[in-house]
Amino acid sequence: MADTDASVKMTPETGAGPTGNMQATAPSGTYFRKGFGLKSEIQAELAVDYTGQFVDMLLARDYTLQAGDVTIRLAKEFGFCYGVERAVEYAYQARKKFPDRTIYLAGEIIHNPHVNSKLQAMGITFLMPVDGRIDFSGVRPEDVVILPAFGVTITDFEVLRKIGCVMVDTTCGSVLNVWKRVESYARDGFTSLIHGKYYHEETRATASQAEKHPGGQYLIVRNMEEAALVCDFIEGRIDSETLLKRFAHAASPNFDPTRDLQRIGVANQTTMLARESLAIGELVGQSMARAHGEQYARDNFRTFDTICSATQERQDAVVELLREPLDAMIVIGGYNSSNTLSLAALCSESVRTFHVEDADDIDPVSRTIRHRPLGAKEEVEAKDWLPRVTPVRIGVTAGASTPNNKIGEAIGRIFASMGIDPKSVQ
Ligand code: SF4
Repeated sequence: MADTDASVKMTPETGAGPTGNMQATAPSGTYFRKGFGLKSEIQAELAVDYTGQFVDMLLARDYTLQAGDVTIRLAKEFGFCYGVERAVEYAYQARKKFPDRTIYLAGEIIHNPHVNSKLQAMGITFLMPVDGRIDFSGVRPEDVVILPAFGVTITDFEVLRKIGCVMVDTTCGSVLNVWKRVESYARDGFTSLIHGKYYHEETRATASQAEKHPGGQYLIVRNMEEAALVCDFIEGRIDSETLLKRFAHAASPNFDPTRDLQRIGVANQTTMLARESLAIGELVGQSMARAHGEQYARDNFRTFDTICSATQERQDAVVELLREPLDAMIVIGGYNSSNTLSLAALCSESVRTFHVEDADDIDPVSRTIRHRPLGAKEEVEAKDWLPRVTPVRIGVTAGASTPNNKIGEAIGRIFASMGIDPKSVQ
């Protein structure tokens, strides 16, 4: 693709550009969302940084590796998703395209420490949010800012547009679909009830889409328990003050439960536990019907599953793997990676599960593992984590932001912890 093809001119005529954030004009050639046509030039670098030999072997052998008494089973969908692959690739292309410019990233490109440290080593500076806001005051018009796969809020986008810097937008298409949904709710006078984490970059960006229409509102619920509280209000069991107290941090400014919970549209952060998102939609729909009648609910309640297909496929694959007898599950991915946490939650229901952030959390010498138990805030170290009886079957999966080399490294360390030289695994 020619470089010029990849830039998008924002015009007043179109009003909205290819991403949900484009609201106004920007000079031609400052906004890029399709890379720079440099894929072939960065391919070798990406392969060195992120491919893994053990994963290649697993793929060639029906997701199974066996050595001695140890069998490793890999979930059939795992690791990098299409959105993450694209975001990382565009960041590498941006570095190649602008070798002499200052390049910033609006937050983390994805939630993976290995990928983020690679980008930092390439001289890309991360502008991390403080209290949910990113300080762009140091960005100059000649600088380049990469927008992450989760997207940014409409406020942040507008700040960058005014600066006039080059924007490389890697917002995932599946996130854009959720934005469209939320925007349509706001346009039609529905409040977006978003199943997500109020502090997560994607959910903050998604919620901000409601602000595109005057009076657009949102409320973010983390789980069934919080959704049930919303139902308590709808059905008159708690008052608006009680509800507001609980959700002050997770609702649009000036949110008024009495006014804003009359018409509700459900959406989700793309990486939540799919079955919980569906259950929340059902719960709230039924609550509306009980409170106001079936016809009212049909007219004033909408729900759409906006979990992305990559998240769904990884969750389905892990459910399938969990049907097999396993002695333990290793889930690899950032502790702040929402889709990895969803995978760890599913695994913890059926088998001893260790969520590790990186391969080196598994130490074959001391035979310990550093991991974060489900719901815990801190990492803990476990000794004797390996099953004592043989043969041993260990399941492995990884979140959408975990590269294959880190998955492979973790598998090598599992073998080594069981006394098997990873080099001997053929
Ligand atoms: S997890 Fe889904 S929404 Fe997020 S970047 Fe990957 S494909 Fe896109």
